[in-house]
Amino acid sequence: MIHYSLVIIVKGYRTKAFVLRKIDLKEADQIITLHTESQGKVKAIAKGIRKARSKNVGNLELLNLIDVLLIPGKNFEIITQVKVENSFLDLKEDLNCLAFVYYLVELLDKLIAENERAPELFDLLDNFLNWAKEKKEDLLKSFALRAFELKLISLLGFAPEIFRCVKCGQKLTSGGSKYFDVSLGGIVCSSCTNGEEQSIKVSENSIKLMRLILEGEDFDLLSKIKAPSGDRKLVATMIHDYLLWILEKQLKSLEVINALEKV
Ligand SMILES: [Zn+2]
Repeated sequence: MIHYSLVIIVKGYRTKAFVLRKIDLKEADQIITLHTESQGKVKAIAKGIRKARSKNVGNLELLNLIDVLLIPGKNFEIITQVKVENSFLDLKEDLNCLAFVYYLVELLDKLIAENERAPELFDLLDNFLNWAKEKKEDLLKSFALRAFELKLISLLGFAPEIFRCVKCGQKLTSGGSKYFDVSLGGIVCSSCTNGEEQSIKVSENSIKLMRLILEGEDFDLLSKIKAPSGDRKLVATMIHDYLLWILEKQLKSLEVINALEKV
C-alpha cells in the first residue's frame, strides 16, 4: 500500500516593515497596514492577533520595525512570522514623542500610495527614527522633523521649487518680495506676484533655511541649525500648508478611485 502525502508549498516573502495602521476585524483578526522595504505599502491580515494567547500580540504595535513573512492572499497578504527589530519604546514612552509617533504613522499612511515601491522612503524613515530615539529632546524643537517632512514629500515627487521662480523660471536673487505658492509648489519671484490667495509671503532667510534642510543629509547636523523664531515659523508654515495641499490632492485622487470602483 502506498501512502501519498500532500505537501502544499506556500510562496511567501520575507521583508522588513514598519507598522502604520491597525483596524480590528471580526474574530480577533486585524488588518495591518505595513510600509515594507521590498513592496512599499501593503495591507495584511494578522489572524487571531487580539487573542491574549496570540504569539504576535505586542509585535505589531504602531511604528514597530519588524521582520515579517508575508503570504500573498486574495485581497490582503497574510502575516505569518513576525520578529520585532525595533519597537522605538523610548519614543512611545515619552508623552510628547508619542504624539509625534501618531503624527508620523498617519502622515505616512495618507501620503504613500499602496504598492508604491520606494526603498529610499524606507531608508529615510529608518534613519530618521534611529536619530529620533537617541535625540528625543531635540526632536520637537529642532529642524530635524521639518527636514524629514520636506525630504518625504520630495521623495514622493512633490519637491518644492525653491531655487527658481515657479512661474517664470528665473533663478531667485536676493531682494524684492517673494511668496511661496502651495498650489504651484514653489517660490514666486517679485515680478510674478499678483496677490495670489494661496501664497505665503516669505523671508530671504526662510528660503535659505528651506534649501539647507532639503539638501542636508545628517539629522544630527540638521537639528543643530539655529534660526530666529520668525523664520522658523515661516519654514513650518511653508512645509505644513504645502503638505496639507498635497494630502488633499492625494485624498481627492483616492475618492476618484473609490468612485470608479463602485461603477
Ligand atoms: Zn517669476
